[in-house]
Amino acid sequence: MQPFDYVKPNSLEEASALLIEHNGDARLMAGMTDLLIRIERGFFHPRLVVDVKALPGMRDLLVVRNGDLRIGAAVTMNEVALSPTARSGWPLLAEGCQSVASYQLRNRATVGGNVCNASPAADSVPALLCYEASVHIFGTDGDRTLPLAEFITGPGRTALQRGELVTAITVPAPARGAAGKFLKLGRTAVGDISVMNVAVLGWPDKATPSGSQWRIALGSVAPTVIRAPEAERILAANTSMAGIEAAAQAASDASRPIDDIRATAAYRRDMVRVLTRRGVEGVLAEIGEQANR
Ligand SMILES: Cc1cc2nc3c(=O)[nH]c(=O)nc-3n(C[C@H](O)[C@H](O)[C@H](O)COP(=O)(O)OP(=O)(O)OC[C@H]3O[C@@H](n4cnc5c(N)ncnc54)[C@H](O)[C@@H]3O)c2cc1C
Repeated sequence: MQPFDYVKPNSLEEASALLIEHNGDARLMAGMTDLLIRIERGFFHPRLVVDVKALPGMRDLLVVRNGDLRIGAAVTMNEVALSPTARSGWPLLAEGCQSVASYQLRNRATVGGNVCNASPAADSVPALLCYEASVHIFGTDGDRTLPLAEFITGPGRTALQRGELVTAITVPAPARGAAGKFLKLGRTAVGDISVMNVAVLGWPDKATPSGSQWRIALGSVAPTVIRAPEAERILAANTSMAGIEAAAQAASDASRPIDDIRATAAYRRDMVRVLTRRGVEGVLAEIGEQANR
């Protein structure tokens, strides 16, 4: 592996200045579970690796004044998966984080790294898209915030500009009575990268014909994690068996999977239909249970 220097700055300004000074030769690291493999395999050749973990706010996991969950970019998957706050308020996200690899890996892998890596198989991203999370960015021109849906621009690509780094992700509180399901298919029962996954979030809403609102996100079936807006619309109109089947088919139609070493495109498309249906049925059951309490 090509040798590189390592630096752990204490201020955002210093981290940003290092990225600019080493123009293209520096890379940010958090848990380094993705980065190390890319360096080792020769995809990246950084001369300098800039550790973000000591930067202010990077390790914060807290509910802020408006009720959003703020996740510092270096908060680990285990910190979210095991957090009572995340588990009770944002259980879909806790489920997504819990599904990542192994306990040991989740102790290093961060939500920020997962988002910045911009893999279509990133397991925290479907839940974050369902909750309509935002990404906070620091750069020499100051702070800016982008919806996650605009931050990830392609496989391995983000909207980050020169000298910019992600400081946090904020996740709005879900609507009252919301329930979620994250269903992940790997080649093994646990510990594998997603062959495909589905996140489903639903909540009661008397203003819609079905009495509920929905968000559905699909992982590993398109160049980026995607929402399935037509499936969401169908469910807002109708959650009968026929409505659920039509929504599951619409989600499958929205997917644009490829054949690769993990699965064929046809299998993935089929599994989107099956897991979307299962997810919606699970959420409906939970919403019904909550209403009866
Ligand atoms: C064995 C194994 C199994 C895995 N299984 C899964 C799985 O089941 N599900 C899954 O989703 N992923 C999985 N992964 C991938 C990886 O663990 C996750 O994507 C993880 O969340 C990455 O976080 P990290 O902190 O290690 O990121 P890093 O490797 O440190 O960084 C990832 C990328 O983000 C950039 N970056 C990091 N922090 C910032 C920042 N603050 N601002 C801007 N850019 C930044 C880095 O430069 C790099 O390009 C697996 C990886 C391995 C090695």
